[in-house]
Amino acid sequence: MRTTVFTIANQKGGVGKTTTAVNLAAALAARKIPTLLVDLDPQANATSAIGVEKQQGKSLYDPLLGEGSATDMIVETPVKNLWLIPSEEDMAAAEIELAQTENYLARLRGVLQSIKDTGRFRVIILDCPPALGMLSMNGLGAADHLLIALQCEYMALEGLGQILRNVNRIKEAGINDALDLGGIVMTMYDVRTNLSRQVVDEVRKHLPEKVFDTVIPRTVRLSEAPSFGKTIFDYDPLSPGASAYKNLAKELITRFELIEPKETPTS
Ligand code: ADP
Ligand code: MG
Repeated sequence: MRTTVFTIANQKGGVGKTTTAVNLAAALAARKIPTLLVDLDPQANATSAIGVEKQQGKSLYDPLLGEGSATDMIVETPVKNLWLIPSEEDMAAAEIELAQTENYLARLRGVLQSIKDTGRFRVIILDCPPALGMLSMNGLGAADHLLIALQCEYMALEGLGQILRNVNRIKEAGINDALDLGGIVMTMYDVRTNLSRQVVDEVRKHLPEKVFDTVIPRTVRLSEAPSFGKTIFDYDPLSPGASAYKNLAKELITRFELIEPKETPTS
């Protein structure tokens, strides 16, 4: 099975990266796409949001530093077709220790290759920490497509410019020439304000092809689900947040051909 790697990044915290990583991964899994979610954030929010206990020694910390195998770090989740590589506090040290390794921006790329080689997963989704540190830069170095979670707020375009400059840095460093801006997910859309609509319009004007049609609404159900260790599909499957992430998955599947078109039956 060919594996497509998406990294969800933005140097800002609190913009909906983890919420998007978890629920998008679950929505793809619900479409029977074998999916691996990789938690790169030392805060391990994605790990707890999916209902997996943090565990010392279960993360990419050792593999990133050249010890142990990444496939041994894969754990099951309560969601069918969805697996996880958890994170833990130790990952914070990797931010620093990675800098002392050779090829430090390409470490994750090498680590993920060993997982790709198993052919187990059609999709890998990387949930990056806030700040474009070593781990996030490694996420960019390892991905086929970057998905930017962009909050519908004032100055959204500024933040976008910053992350796009870093994409160019990775490309110029020759780490990942093929890195592509896969799309922009507009998050926390507030239907009651004009600001949200204006921000989406503005980002669409700048990057018309890149912004997904689906915008993620600001809803309290999406923020409650992680404290129960549940995706939105298990917590409140009929909520607007659930249908938004389902639609986003549909767009992703089409845009990146994640499901092979079925052979047309001969009658
Ligand atoms: P990041 O990973 O970028 O730091 P999170 O996904 O953790 O961002 O989201 C930050 C906070 O906002 C969390 O408390 C989360 O539950 C909440 N949140 C995320 N998306 C939404 C949304 N669409 N509506 C309401 N709250 C949200
Ligand atoms: Mg996060």
